[in-house]
Amino acid sequence: MTEPTNTVFGPVPSRRLGLSLGIDLVPYKVCSLDCVYCQIDRTTEKSLTRKAYVDIQTILDQLKARLADGVKADVISLTGSGEPTLNTGLGDLIDGIRTLTSIPIAIITNSTLLNDPEVRTQCAKADMILPSLDAVLPEAYARVNRPCESLTVQALIQGLVDFRAQFSGQIWLEIFLVEGLNTDPDHLDALKLAIERIAPDRVQLNTAVRPTADSGIARLSPERMLAMANHLGPKCEIIADFSKAPSTAGEAIGPAHILNLVDRHPSSMSDICTCLGLPLARAEDLMTPLLQSRQVLCIQRDGTPFYSTPKST
Ligand code: SF4
Repeated sequence: MTEPTNTVFGPVPSRRLGLSLGIDLVPYKVCSLDCVYCQIDRTTEKSLTRKAYVDIQTILDQLKARLADGVKADVISLTGSGEPTLNTGLGDLIDGIRTLTSIPIAIITNSTLLNDPEVRTQCAKADMILPSLDAVLPEAYARVNRPCESLTVQALIQGLVDFRAQFSGQIWLEIFLVEGLNTDPDHLDALKLAIERIAPDRVQLNTAVRPTADSGIARLSPERMLAMANHLGPKCEIIADFSKAPSTAGEAIGPAHILNLVDRHPSSMSDICTCLGLPLARAEDLMTPLLQSRQVLCIQRDGTPFYSTPKST
């Protein structure tokens, strides 16, 4: 277990948060889960024990120095090489950051400790929280997240429900989908019910577009991601950046890819850009002739243009 020497990292551009200045609250790699899709690595210390893994004053001193150097960020993200809520100094850290800067504070957490009232009180000091919930049935939880033995999905969900009741800030729930492990219809139905109970502000769907801790982790195709989003409800958005995914075909994205996508699922321009990894201008260029030739139709849904093929409208 190696304590980080630089506890403040970035800022890095984040699709969800803008320019994000990260703070590492635990050493590599202490976590209560050992997710098969982890983009850091396998968990080396799987633990639910909260302690002062990284000294809070050290973090504040390093943050103060970065701010004095003129670092700019849209958000300060409490995250790092494992689960940040395992650090008992989380609440003191947030209080300390408030004395240094008005930059909003977000916590990225795996949700496993939110059934602890003290953790909820500390997390509620942040401006927003980005918790994960990948599995709501025990078998799926074991397959995808490989939790500490004493953790149960019931406690995980209840922790999120209780946190929602006491937190008025934004909650953006992330669901990481692994083809074949948490994507069967029964699990999706249970996930939908859990989302309704938790009532997050947003539901953000991700899949394995980057290298993962375990090999052979199957990412969902853009079309499957859209189908999942449609199934799970209107708050769902796709955050997987398919432009980062290694190309399987090695081919350029063209009109056929758009046709294929919207033929299966009516999609907004934002969906199309995300799923196909296209900049907006390129997606619009590809769309124009498809609209002119009426291979694709544009329909309005709640004021947002959606694109579809004639037969699927
Ligand atoms: S909770 Fe996050 S850090 Fe921990 S194993 Fe899962 S993905 Fe990795």
